[in-house]
Amino acid sequence: MGYVEGLKCRECGRQYNVEPIYVCEFCFGPLEVIYNYEKIKKVISKKKIENRDETLWRYKELLPIDGPPQAGLYSGFTPLVKAENLAKVLGVKELYIKDDTVVHPTFSFKDRVVAVALTKAKEFGFDTVACASTGNLAHSVSAQGAKAGFKRFIFIPATLEASKIVSSLVFEPHLIAVDGNYDEVNRLCSEIANQYRWAFVNINIRPFYAEGSKTIGFEIAEQLGWKAPDNVVVPCASGSLLTKIWKAFKELKEVGIIKSANTKIFAAQAKGCNPIVTAIKNDTDVIRPVKPDTVAKSLAIGNPADGYYAYKAVKESGGYGEDVTDDEIVEGMKLLARTEGIFAETAGGVTVATTKKLIEQGYIGKNEVTVICVTGNGLKTKEAFDGRMSEPIYIKPNIEAFEKTLKRLKILK
Ligand SMILES: *Cc1c(COP(=O)(O)O)cnc(C)c1O
Ligand SMILES: [Zn+2]
Repeated sequence: MGYVEGLKCRECGRQYNVEPIYVCEFCFGPLEVIYNYEKIKKVISKKKIENRDETLWRYKELLPIDGPPQAGLYSGFTPLVKAENLAKVLGVKELYIKDDTVVHPTFSFKDRVVAVALTKAKEFGFDTVACASTGNLAHSVSAQGAKAGFKRFIFIPATLEASKIVSSLVFEPHLIAVDGNYDEVNRLCSEIANQYRWAFVNINIRPFYAEGSKTIGFEIAEQLGWKAPDNVVVPCASGSLLTKIWKAFKELKEVGIIKSANTKIFAAQAKGCNPIVTAIKNDTDVIRPVKPDTVAKSLAIGNPADGYYAYKAVKESGGYGEDVTDDEIVEGMKLLARTEGIFAETAGGVTVATTKKLIEQGYIGKNEVTVICVTGNGLKTKEAFDGRMSEPIYIKPNIEAFEKTLKRLKILK
C-alpha cells in the first residue's frame, strides 16, 4: 500500500528490506527509508493534500507506513505564526514561528515522530514500545503508547525536570530513571534493545521514527503557500530533526509540489551542549562529544547520533550555526513570550536567542523569509526560571492597597 522501497545505508548504499533494523551490517552506517518518488509524484497533489484532515497524516504518501495511521491521529498541522512583533524587535521583515508548543497531545514536536514510530511498531507486530529520552519523547511515548495499547518501558536521566517526569508517570508506563546522563541512558538502551524484542522508537525503529520529523517541513512549505522559506532555524539534540526538515523541502521539490528548495538550514544549540554547532563553526565534520551542562535538557545530547549528517545538511544548504548561554536561553523564552504570546520550553529559548545572534551577525538577511522552529511547551520546563523570574505583586484585598500599587507603578499619580 505504501510507497516505501526499502531501507538504504547512508554510507555504503546497501539496501535492506523493511524491518526493525537501524544499522548497516557491513559498515555500521545508519539506515534511511527510501521511497518510490516516481509513483508518489503520480498520486500526490496540492489539492489532494489540502482537502485532507489538518493533521500530519495529510502527507501520508511521504511517510513510511503501509496501512492506516494507528497512533497520533490528531497530531501535527500546528500554527505557523506570523511573528510581526518579534520581527520588529529583531529588525527583519518577514519572520514566522512554527509553533509546536500547541495542538500536539503532549505539547512538543515529539508527537510527530512518535505517531509514525508507534504506527510502524504496530505494523511490525510489537506489543512493547520503549525509548531513551531527554524528556519530551518520554512524555509522548507514555501517552500515545497508552492510547495505542502498548506496554511501555521509558528510560530517562534521573535529573530530568519534575514536570516532565510527572507528565510521563501519569500514563503509568514503566518509567526507569537512570543514574546517568542521556548518552549513558542511550548506551544502556542499545544493549537492552539487542536482548529484548521491543520496539525502541529511537533505536531499532529509528529510521521510521525520524521520518515523522519531515512533517514540520511539509507544513511550513504548505503554510507559506507551497513555498520553501529562505531560512529555517532548528534546535538540535541528536540532529535528526534538522536533517529531516531539509529532506522534507527536497522531497516536495522531487515530487513536483514546490518549485525550488533553496532553504538555508541553521542549527541552534546551548553553549552547555554544542557538539554540532562547534563542528559547524570549526568547519570539520568530526563531531566531538561533550558532557552536557545546560538548562535546555531536551537538547542535552552530548554525542549526537545524527550530528555528522546535521553538519552536512547545514553546510550543503549554505546555513550556519550558533550557540547561546543559559541566560540567553531564558531571555529568548521571555522575548518570545512578551512579543508573540508564546510560552516555549528551553529549546524554544535556544532557537529564538540563536536566531537573534544569526541576524545580528548577518547570516540571516533582513529581507529574507525566516522560520524559527519552536518545538516544545514552556509549562514543561518552568525550572529554567528558578531565580530568573519577577514575582507577582502581593496585596491585601482592599482598594486602597490596589491604588497604592498603581501609584508605585506610576500609573496613578
Ligand atoms: C528532541 C527535541 C528536539 C531535537 O531533536 P533531535 O534529536 O535533534 O531530532 C528539539 N526540541 C525539542 C523540544 C525536543 O524535545
Ligand atoms: Zn553500509
